[in-house]
Amino acid sequence: MSEQQEQAVSPAVRSRVDNYVGGQWTTPAAETTQSVVDPATGDDLATVEFSSAETVDQAVRTANDAFEDWRQTPVVERVQYLFDLKTELEDRIDEIATALSREHGKTVAEARGEIRRGIENVEVACGMPNMMREGSGNVEDVASGMDEYAVRQPLGVFTAITPFNFPAMIPLWFLPYAVATGNTFILKPSEKVPLSSQLIFEAVDAVDFPDGVVNLVNGGAETVNALLEHDDIEGVSFVGSSPVAKHVYETAAQHGKRVQAQGGAKNYAVVTDQASLEDAIPNIIGSVYGNAGQRCLANDVVVGVGDVYDDLREQLIDAAEDLTVGVGVEEETDVGPLITDESRERVLDLIENALDEGAELVLDGRDFEHPEGLAGSFLGPTLLEGVTADMEIAQEEIFGPVLCLAEVDALDEAIEMVNATKYGNASSIYTESGSEARRYKYAVDAGNIGINVGVCAPMGFFHFGGRKASFFGDLHAQGEDAVNFYTEKTIQIERWYS
Ligand code: NAD
Repeated sequence: MSEQQEQAVSPAVRSRVDNYVGGQWTTPAAETTQSVVDPATGDDLATVEFSSAETVDQAVRTANDAFEDWRQTPVVERVQYLFDLKTELEDRIDEIATALSREHGKTVAEARGEIRRGIENVEVACGMPNMMREGSGNVEDVASGMDEYAVRQPLGVFTAITPFNFPAMIPLWFLPYAVATGNTFILKPSEKVPLSSQLIFEAVDAVDFPDGVVNLVNGGAETVNALLEHDDIEGVSFVGSSPVAKHVYETAAQHGKRVQAQGGAKNYAVVTDQASLEDAIPNIIGSVYGNAGQRCLANDVVVGVGDVYDDLREQLIDAAEDLTVGVGVEEETDVGPLITDESRERVLDLIENALDEGAELVLDGRDFEHPEGLAGSFLGPTLLEGVTADMEIAQEEIFGPVLCLAEVDALDEAIEMVNATKYGNASSIYTESGSEARRYKYAVDAGNIGINVGVCAPMGFFHFGGRKASFFGDLHAQGEDAVNFYTEKTIQIERWYS
């Protein structure tokens, strides 16, 4: 292991993954445990203990007990904790980024980028005094001497259940808004990457929120189900694969909770002969191979429309060949390993099926081996062509460094292909023609559309969510939707007789 890698994770974080409940670090006495594995080396970094239903119950009670005082804490005071959290996170950005890179495999630059996007949500939630004012309002004299108000009120305990692919950013899509609106909060991070949350909660601990306002429980499916079924949880935010998102949506709704559940994706990029290829190519490469393709906004199918195809193909191959595969904490790395060997096997199966169905390999990363013989779950950049809408690889999320090229004659044909998947998270078009761009954004059924932008991740002050099988619920994450999700608008009508 290189010196850079050795220094990557602080010893305290490497050896223990704890819960954080009621302002205290606690170790759950768990029957089930799982190793946190460095996906580049196969080394064990830590052990996660899975919180039982009893441990979850203790955390929910603690959060519930903290609710009444927190709710009565003026919103201008509540956000002071978030101003402090922003500073604490910024001070720790290098430490979190290296730990994140170790447990996830992405590059340190990518890790820093996602932490920055997470902090952006803390910053947006600092404006909660103003955000809570919006969408409420009052009208005097709705009847003689009678006034009517709509006010936003918090509900109680909220939980967020998050995936492995953005271990720092996604928890911060929820935590700041939930607590700034006056709720208390429990995070259940992905058991594959719990170390980033440990460090985020060290920042939470340093901020000194009142005990029980912000809590962390670790675990897997059983822990999630205990949260979904608990009577004192008011609402659930979820991000992960679509089958689990659907399960979370249905189970939480059956237990009377509000739910926002973001699922998987299958995103296409369309390139027309009006595109500036020079600008488009690096953008497409970043979208497909960044984060080793493990991104819900990755455009893993690229459709060339008409004459552009040959140039597009050639330039994409050249750019993909130039990428360096390696360990995330090493500066020269562009593409890190996949999260687990099982993920790698799943992607290899998708490639194999695509070849059986008639696609052709023009860049083959399947046999990539790390030069130092590291036992990580690496996969080299791979490029398939001849991909058609009826193939499995054109319909299923790949979540690996694989670009599928398709060729069509007309933009309408491309749009039909984009809309044929069951998902609706994101899609991009590369063109300098305003009328082509307009046709595209009008016709494509996806929650996030990029025009010459390959990763159309909305800023924190806009909502973020997909459509179709990419989202279950109605209010999305971030921005105004988050305020609506975490508050109940209450009508108060009053008349005074003396
Ligand atoms: P996952 O669904 O396996 O896990 C997500 C969370 O659900 C984890 O915390 C996990 O512990 C829990 N979980 C897993 N199985 C469960 C079960 N049977 N019952 C209850 N809980 C369960 O997802 P992942 O592999 O960690 O993340 C990758 C997926 O997340 C991809 O499909 C990706 O597209 C999606 N994702 C979507 C968005 C979005 O904004 N739509 C963003 C990031 C990731």
